Amino acid sequence: MSNTKSIKSILKRCVYILLVYIPLFCLLTSLVAIIVLKFVPVPYTPLMALRSIEYRKDTDYHIRREWKPLHEIGPQVAMAVMASEDIRFIIHRGFDWKSIRQARLEHAAGKELRGASTITQQTAKNVFLLPHRSWVRKGLEACFTVGIEWLWGKKRILEVYLNVVEMGPGIFGVEAAAQRYYQKPAKELTAREAMLLASCLPAPRQRNPLHPTPEMEERVVMMERIVGLLPAPLWFDAEPKQVVSPTSGQQDVSVSSWVVYGSDGYDYVKINLSDTVSYKSFQEINPNRIIVNIHGITNQTTWIHQFPTQAISNAYYLQTADDALRIIIDLKSKYHWGHSIYYEGNRLVIRVKHPPKLRLKGLRIALDAGHGGEASGAIGATGLKEKDLNLELVMLLKSRLEKRGAKVILTRSDDSDVSMEQRLQYLSWQAPDILVSVHNNASVNPAIRGTGTYYRHIGFRPLSTAILDRILELGVQNAGNVGSFDFALNGPTEYPNVLIEGLFLSNPQDEAKLLNKRFKKRLVNKIVKGIEDFLKDAG
Ligand SMILES: [Zn+2]
Repeated sequence: MSNTKSIKSILKRCVYILLVYIPLFCLLTSLVAIIVLKFVPVPYTPLMALRSIEYRKDTDYHIRREWKPLHEIGPQVAMAVMASEDIRFIIHRGFDWKSIRQARLEHAAGKELRGASTITQQTAKNVFLLPHRSWVRKGLEACFTVGIEWLWGKKRILEVYLNVVEMGPGIFGVEAAAQRYYQKPAKELTAREAMLLASCLPAPRQRNPLHPTPEMEERVVMMERIVGLLPAPLWFDAEPKQVVSPTSGQQDVSVSSWVVYGSDGYDYVKINLSDTVSYKSFQEINPNRIIVNIHGITNQTTWIHQFPTQAISNAYYLQTADDALRIIIDLKSKYHWGHSIYYEGNRLVIRVKHPPKLRLKGLRIALDAGHGGEASGAIGATGLKEKDLNLELVMLLKSRLEKRGAKVILTRSDDSDVSMEQRLQYLSWQAPDILVSVHNNASVNPAIRGTGTYYRHIGFRPLSTAILDRILELGVQNAGNVGSFDFALNGPTEYPNVLIEGLFLSNPQDEAKLLNKRFKKRLVNKIVKGIEDFLKDAG
């Protein structure tokens, strides 16, 4: 009797140890580890141990690492790594749901499924876990991700990441990588060197920044675009910057030098300023030019250094007031093909896209099917949903355009609810030559019907009129060509874009047309013809 009792109590004790003490012990050690590593450099990681075992027979394999605090690493590498690995690092809370959805979106559009691990998740994995793939590891990684976001904060997470991440065979941390590849400290790397280093991250043991592959170069181009848009890293300044209020009138920002040059795919106007100031830009037509107004500036420039350019014919400036400078960039092409403006440090950069080859073959055309998922858009009397119709028209357009040799990019290819922000970001990464967004309209007044096209920037009007003219050949009502329109996808200045509102689902005659297979095919053919007219006319 007492024997079974004691067995029972031993069993009870085992269960207790297994289910309560061990998890509690793990939790406590993890917590202690996280707290200690908030202040102490990470001495060694499971991955380093794993690599030492994997390479134990390779006498050339040595682990190199050199711990550096964040301010000694400098912003160059940190920004490049954020641009490459985790654009929303500053804003998310450890997990980036948007990026996860975006990866799914790209996968749905036929691209390889990529990991959407944030820098926090990667840090959790690098410091506390082994890289093998399993659900247990994923679960633990999620716990550590929450833990370090909570106890370390962004600055420490980035600092640890930059110090432990594998950057090459035996190379851990960016300082060791900078020394190994460029024989200088990470802080002294140029922007390009930093970006090349960051471009190795997805496959550090296969890639070498000194021998960039086309994929790495592509990634560097993407990073260049993004770095200018990332929030400024205040962590790197020894002294917090004095913010000058614009109303004080005490700003004394000056221009020192200019350079204008052409490179692959783009021309650049780069203006060195003594500090960053706000600017406003807009397009003008007849003659075609880009105007950038900069406020709070006293111009002291002596010359503009101009090298051969493909899209820009002239770049010059006018001092329009004591403290206002107007930059004028005359374009060679008949139409605007897109530009973007951003800062590289204190350097204001205006990047102007070279016109593409004026034919469908090889043209990168982004197609955007409006709405999707929960967002149905307009609904017709027969129950026809705008989201389904938009997608059907876009898929028809895609196959027509691809037959003509165009390269089509889709913002959605199934019934998923993709936010405007996601669409815009995806488009910015894809950098299409033109964008066509397809919607269909609705009005409270059932008598209103017809086709309309919309644009915001005047330079992109010709695309919208060319398409509208062709669609009107179908005998539909003219609902007009509308400018300065406040639609998110009409916002980008980087590429010509147009919103097409096919017909009115709220009008019975229009809806009948939209239900007709033949009409849809003819509509799509007219849109293709309109794009072709635009290209022909642009020559
Ligand atoms: Zn719509």
